[in-house]
Amino acid sequence: MKCAVCSGLMKPVTTSLPFKLSDERIIILKGIPVLQCGSCAESLLEDAVMARADAMLGKLDGGAELAVIRYAAGEGPTRRLQRTASNGGCARG
Ligand SMILES: [Zn+2]
Repeated sequence: MKCAVCSGLMKPVTTSLPFKLSDERIIILKGIPVLQCGSCAESLLEDAVMARADAMLGKLDGGAELAVIRYAAGEGPTRRLQRTASNGGCARG
C-alpha cells in the first residue's frame, strides 16, 4: 500500500492513538496497528482496525475524561485508568 500524500511505502507499525470522542473526552487506544508512511508523517487505519476501534469506543461507558485502553488484547474486559488524586493543595487542620 502506498501513501496517499507522497506515494511512499506504508508500513505496519503498532502505536498509541488518541481518539477524540467529544470536546471533553479523549480515549487513547494503546497498541493499535496502523500503517505509517516511511517518508512523511502520514498514517492510516485499515478498515478492520477502524471498525474494531469504533466498536471498542462505542462500548465505553461514561465517566473519565481521559482513558487509556488496550486495543491489542482480544479477550477480557477493557480497563479504564483509575482517576488519580490530584488535589494537592488540600492541607489538614
Ligand atoms: Zn507519505
